[in-house]
Amino acid sequence: MATAQPRPTGLLSNARFVASPNHNARPAGAVVSLLVIHNISLPPGQFGTGCVEQFFCNQLDWQAHPYFKSIEGLEVSAHCLIERSGALIQFVSLHQRAWHAGRSSFEGLENCNDFSIGIELEGTDDQPYSDAQYESLVQVTLQLQQNFLQLTNARIVGHCDIAPGRKTDPGPAFDWVRFRTQLLDAQSVIGELR
Ligand SMILES: [Zn+2]
Repeated sequence: MATAQPRPTGLLSNARFVASPNHNARPAGAVVSLLVIHNISLPPGQFGTGCVEQFFCNQLDWQAHPYFKSIEGLEVSAHCLIERSGALIQFVSLHQRAWHAGRSSFEGLENCNDFSIGIELEGTDDQPYSDAQYESLVQVTLQLQQNFLQLTNARIVGHCDIAPGRKTDPGPAFDWVRFRTQLLDAQSVIGELR
Protein backbone atom coordinates (compact mmCIF):
# COMPACT_ATOMS: atom_id res chain seq x y z
CA MET A 1 0.00 0.00 0.00
CA ALA A 2 3.02 2.26 -0.19
CA THR A 3 3.02 2.85 -3.91
CA ALA A 4 0.33 5.46 -4.50
CA GLN A 5 1.64 8.84 -5.48
CA PRO A 6 0.19 12.05 -4.07
CA ARG A 7 -2.31 13.57 -6.43
CA PRO A 8 -0.69 16.71 -7.80
CA THR A 9 -3.70 18.80 -6.87
CA GLY A 10 -3.85 17.48 -3.33
CA LEU A 11 -7.59 17.01 -3.75
CA LEU A 12 -9.45 13.91 -2.66
CA SER A 13 -11.45 12.40 -5.49
CA ASN A 14 -14.46 11.60 -3.34
CA ALA A 15 -14.80 14.98 -1.66
CA ARG A 16 -16.87 17.97 -2.61
CA PHE A 17 -14.34 20.79 -2.91
CA VAL A 18 -15.20 24.20 -1.49
CA ALA A 19 -12.21 26.54 -1.63
CA SER A 20 -11.28 28.25 1.62
CA PRO A 21 -9.02 31.28 1.46
CA ASN A 22 -7.67 30.39 4.90
CA HIS A 23 -4.50 28.56 3.96
CA ASN A 24 -0.96 29.16 2.83
CA ALA A 25 2.11 27.22 1.79
CA ARG A 26 3.67 24.68 4.05
CA PRO A 27 7.26 25.57 5.00
CA ALA A 28 9.90 24.33 2.60
CA GLY A 29 10.81 20.77 3.40
CA ALA A 30 7.78 20.12 5.58
CA VAL A 31 6.69 16.51 5.31
CA VAL A 32 3.05 15.71 5.99
CA SER A 33 3.29 13.31 8.89
CA LEU A 34 0.43 13.96 11.30
CA LEU A 35 -3.34 13.63 11.13
CA VAL A 36 -5.30 15.80 13.55
CA ILE A 37 -8.93 15.02 14.31
CA HIS A 38 -11.24 17.83 15.44
CA ASN A 39 -14.89 18.52 15.91
CA ILE A 40 -16.94 21.54 15.07
CA SER A 41 -20.59 22.46 14.75
CA LEU A 42 -22.14 25.87 14.27
CA PRO A 43 -24.00 26.96 16.19
CA PRO A 44 -22.53 24.47 18.68
CA GLY A 45 -24.61 21.31 18.83
CA GLN A 46 -26.57 22.10 15.67
CA PHE A 47 -25.87 20.04 12.59
CA GLY A 48 -26.44 20.50 8.89
CA THR A 49 -26.76 24.28 9.10
CA GLY A 50 -24.13 25.04 6.44
CA CYS A 51 -22.52 27.44 8.90
CA VAL A 52 -19.24 25.54 9.18
CA GLU A 53 -18.75 25.78 5.45
CA GLN A 54 -19.51 29.49 5.58
CA PHE A 55 -17.18 29.96 8.54
CA PHE A 56 -14.25 28.32 6.76
CA CYS A 57 -14.90 30.48 3.72
CA ASN A 58 -15.13 33.74 5.70
CA GLN A 59 -18.78 34.03 4.72
CA LEU A 60 -20.49 33.48 8.03
CA ASP A 61 -22.98 36.14 9.05
CA TRP A 62 -21.70 37.08 12.52
CA GLN A 63 -25.12 38.51 13.39
CA ALA A 64 -27.00 35.29 12.64
CA HIS A 65 -26.51 33.74 16.09
CA PRO A 66 -25.29 35.08 19.44
CA TYR A 67 -22.50 32.48 19.60
CA PHE A 68 -20.98 33.77 16.38
CA LYS A 69 -19.91 36.95 18.19
CA SER A 70 -17.31 34.85 20.01
CA ILE A 71 -15.69 33.70 16.80
CA GLU A 72 -16.21 36.86 14.77
CA GLY A 73 -13.37 37.61 12.41
CA LEU A 74 -11.50 34.36 12.98
CA GLU A 75 -9.89 33.04 9.82
CA VAL A 76 -9.61 29.28 10.13
CA SER A 77 -10.01 26.18 8.05
CA ALA A 78 -9.38 22.49 7.97
CA HIS A 79 -8.48 20.30 5.05
CA CYS A 80 -11.71 18.35 5.37
CA LEU A 81 -15.04 18.22 7.13
CA ILE A 82 -16.98 15.00 7.58
CA GLU A 83 -20.66 15.73 7.98
CA ARG A 84 -23.05 13.66 10.08
CA SER A 85 -24.08 11.78 6.92
CA GLY A 86 -20.44 10.85 6.32
CA ALA A 87 -20.23 13.20 3.34
CA LEU A 88 -16.80 14.69 2.84
CA ILE A 89 -16.10 18.32 2.07
CA GLN A 90 -12.56 19.46 1.31
CA PHE A 91 -11.54 23.08 1.80
CA VAL A 92 -7.77 23.14 1.32
CA SER A 93 -5.39 21.12 -0.84
CA LEU A 94 -3.55 18.53 1.19
CA HIS A 95 -0.31 20.03 -0.01
CA GLN A 96 -1.17 23.42 1.47
CA ARG A 97 -1.22 24.42 5.12
CA ALA A 98 -4.73 24.70 6.52
CA TRP A 99 -5.29 26.75 9.66
CA HIS A 100 -6.80 24.26 12.08
CA ALA A 101 -4.46 23.49 14.96
CA GLY A 102 -3.34 26.87 16.23
CA ARG A 103 -0.69 26.87 18.93
CA SER A 104 0.27 23.23 19.20
CA SER A 105 3.06 20.73 19.45
CA PHE A 106 3.61 17.05 18.75
CA GLU A 107 6.66 15.19 20.03
CA GLY A 108 8.45 18.47 20.61
CA LEU A 109 7.71 19.89 17.18
CA GLU A 110 5.63 23.07 17.30
CA ASN A 111 3.13 24.57 14.88
CA CYS A 112 1.49 21.35 13.84
CA ASN A 113 -0.27 23.04 10.94
CA ASP A 114 3.07 22.97 9.14
CA PHE A 115 3.17 19.21 8.86
CA SER A 116 -0.34 17.98 9.52
CA ILE A 117 -3.67 17.37 7.87
CA GLY A 118 -6.71 18.51 9.80
CA ILE A 119 -10.04 16.74 9.62
CA GLU A 120 -13.13 18.13 11.30
CA LEU A 121 -15.97 15.86 12.33
CA GLU A 122 -19.27 17.67 12.48
CA GLY A 123 -20.13 17.19 16.11
CA THR A 124 -19.51 18.08 19.72
CA ASP A 125 -17.33 16.67 22.47
CA ASP A 126 -20.19 14.79 24.10
CA GLN A 127 -22.59 13.62 21.38
CA PRO A 128 -21.83 10.28 19.76
CA TYR A 129 -20.51 10.55 16.23
CA SER A 130 -22.45 8.75 13.53
CA ASP A 131 -21.56 5.35 12.10
CA ALA A 132 -21.20 7.03 8.72
CA GLN A 133 -18.64 9.44 10.15
CA TYR A 134 -16.46 6.63 11.49
CA GLU A 135 -16.69 4.82 8.17
CA SER A 136 -15.87 7.95 6.20
CA LEU A 137 -12.99 8.84 8.51
CA VAL A 138 -11.50 5.37 8.08
CA GLN A 139 -11.74 5.61 4.31
CA VAL A 140 -10.18 9.07 4.21
CA THR A 141 -7.41 7.98 6.55
CA LEU A 142 -6.60 5.07 4.25
CA GLN A 143 -6.42 7.42 1.28
CA LEU A 144 -4.19 9.81 3.15
CA GLN A 145 -1.88 7.05 4.31
CA GLN A 146 -1.49 5.83 0.74
CA ASN A 147 -0.44 9.31 -0.33
CA PHE A 148 1.60 10.40 2.68
CA LEU A 149 3.70 7.49 3.78
CA GLN A 150 4.82 9.02 7.07
CA LEU A 151 1.22 9.28 8.22
CA THR A 152 1.39 6.14 10.33
CA ASN A 153 -1.29 4.95 12.75
CA ALA A 154 0.76 6.27 15.67
CA ARG A 155 0.63 9.73 14.15
CA ILE A 156 -3.15 10.15 14.27
CA VAL A 157 -4.12 12.37 17.18
CA GLY A 158 -6.86 14.57 18.50
CA HIS A 159 -6.63 18.33 18.68
CA CYS A 160 -6.73 17.84 22.46
CA ASP A 161 -3.46 15.89 22.26
CA ILE A 162 -1.46 18.63 20.55
CA ALA A 163 -3.02 21.57 22.36
CA PRO A 164 -3.76 20.20 25.85
CA GLY A 165 -5.37 22.61 28.25
CA ARG A 166 -6.49 24.74 25.35
CA LYS A 167 -8.52 22.35 23.20
CA THR A 168 -10.73 19.38 24.07
CA ASP A 169 -11.90 18.14 20.68
CA PRO A 170 -12.79 15.63 19.38
CA GLY A 171 -13.82 15.02 22.99
CA PRO A 172 -14.83 11.98 25.01
CA ALA A 173 -17.56 11.22 22.48
CA PHE A 174 -14.93 10.16 19.97
CA ASP A 175 -14.38 6.43 20.36
CA TRP A 176 -10.67 6.01 19.63
CA VAL A 177 -10.77 2.25 20.16
CA ARG A 178 -13.58 1.92 17.65
CA PHE A 179 -11.83 4.14 15.12
CA ARG A 180 -8.48 2.39 15.45
CA THR A 181 -10.10 -1.04 15.29
CA GLN A 182 -12.03 -0.16 12.14
CA LEU A 183 -8.88 1.33 10.63
CA LEU A 184 -6.83 -1.79 11.34
CA ASP A 185 -9.62 -3.95 9.87
CA ALA A 186 -9.66 -1.86 6.71
CA GLN A 187 -5.89 -1.95 6.46
CA SER A 188 -5.85 -5.74 6.81
CA VAL A 189 -8.37 -6.04 3.97
CA ILE A 190 -6.11 -3.94 1.77
CA GLY A 191 -3.18 -6.11 2.82
CA GLU A 192 -5.03 -9.26 1.81
CA LEU A 193 -5.91 -7.82 -1.56
CA ARG A 194 -2.31 -7.09 -2.49
ZN1 LIG B 1 -9.97 21.49 16.90
